[in-house]
Amino acid sequence: MPAKNIDELIALCKRRGFIFQSSEIYGGTQGLYDYGPLGVELKNNIKNSWWKSIVYERDDVEGLDASILTKPVVLKHSGHEETFTDPLIDCKKCNGRWRADHLESSSCSLTKKSVVDCNKKDLTDARPFNLMFKTNMGPIDDGSSFAYLRPETAQQIFTNFKNVVDSTSRMVPFGIAQMGKAFRNEITLKSFIFRVREFEQMELEYFVKPGEDEKSHKDWVETRLEWWTEQGVSKDSLELYDVPSDELAHYSKATVDIMYKFPHGLEELEGIANRTDFDLGSHSKDQDQLKLTAKVAENKNSNSKLALQDEGNKWFVPFVIEPSAGVDRAFLAILNESYFVEDIDGKERVVLKLKPHLSPIKAAVIPLKKNDKNLVTMAKNIKNTLQKLGMGRVLLENSGNIGKNYRRHDEVGTPICITVDFESLENETITVRDRDSMEQKRMSVDEVVNYFKETF
Ligand code: ATP
Repeated sequence: MPAKNIDELIALCKRRGFIFQSSEIYGGTQGLYDYGPLGVELKNNIKNSWWKSIVYERDDVEGLDASILTKPVVLKHSGHEETFTDPLIDCKKCNGRWRADHLESSSCSLTKKSVVDCNKKDLTDARPFNLMFKTNMGPIDDGSSFAYLRPETAQQIFTNFKNVVDSTSRMVPFGIAQMGKAFRNEITLKSFIFRVREFEQMELEYFVKPGEDEKSHKDWVETRLEWWTEQGVSKDSLELYDVPSDELAHYSKATVDIMYKFPHGLEELEGIANRTDFDLGSHSKDQDQLKLTAKVAENKNSNSKLALQDEGNKWFVPFVIEPSAGVDRAFLAILNESYFVEDIDGKERVVLKLKPHLSPIKAAVIPLKKNDKNLVTMAKNIKNTLQKLGMGRVLLENSGNIGKNYRRHDEVGTPICITVDFESLENETITVRDRDSMEQKRMSVDEVVNYFKETF
């Protein structure tokens, strides 16, 4: 049965090197996690799978990798300086600090009771708390020159809109995709990597003509649902949530959240928002007011507005559909979906039934006998042949303990284990064990190469 207990996943992550608490040797830092040797592989595979489906497999999306440090004016005009806040409540007695909308699930450190059951007189009124991190830029630390660490990857897509259009001659509908770090000084940290202060997003801004936005929004919800199932997240674990108008972000006309049944409950995995022309519109206004670049001011023909011309040469500001997914939440959902504890003849087997394209290690090559020169040489050659195919990490396991290796590789989701034995030296066949069925088959190296090409 699949594990629905977050502690089992946390233990696996630590034991096998997927995720560690940041600065653990100094007691750890709340809300920050480090991805270990296998975590970085799984995370990269998730991101690559997203990039492949959003950029490579489509003809209407360009990629971008913009800076994280962001000029305050960008986040002023995006509305983040004013509205990217959570309502914060303090307790005058225990000095606890919680999000006003999370009081029910927060507990007091003194009474250990839910905060809603505490004495209301001790609680302050809610006050807005801005979630953006600030940092100093330049050599003088007097607060006069600072930057924000971006709270979402989206804004630099909007500020680069004209650059991308000018350099690619794109016309709507088209999109710009970006993956990367985002930072939020979250008050309520939650469930391992679910809500953290430093995380990664995979965001697409898809530009369409006004009037075509609602259909595109619907299409993107379908497309994204499909992608999640291709990553092994079952449809039964997903739900769509139409965000009610009083909960919409300041830029959104409509948002559909893809919700996932995380071990701690049903929560947002990805948000798909119709951001209208809010962002391009407000960054255009900014340029009008500030006459930002000398070049734009000099060249009257240059259009600094973040707009496009239609067939009749009339300018319009495109509407934007934004599918925005968190990499860390994707990691947690995929891990949870693939984690199974099975009973095999009275013995427990933990297995990560990851989709092969996501597996951190694609195959383990194991010589039957540790340090046997001929077996190890053949195993090394097979490892190198498979590694050179460029499909992901292949590991040589020279511990000689086949059973232990099988168990370890089941737990980290390696789709196949390849054993090189004395028969291999004679007829060049190897034993391939399948992670899910545990079946073993004798195959030639060429057959394994073909399996690699077809599977990854
Ligand atoms: P929530 O309120 O659930 O924390 P949000 O509505 O503020 O999330 P968005 O601003 O829509 O999130 O961000 C898009 C995606 O980025 C989310 O669906 C989520 O996957 C991810 N994300 C946002 N905040 C965090 C965070 N603090 N930690 C990890 N992932 C996050």
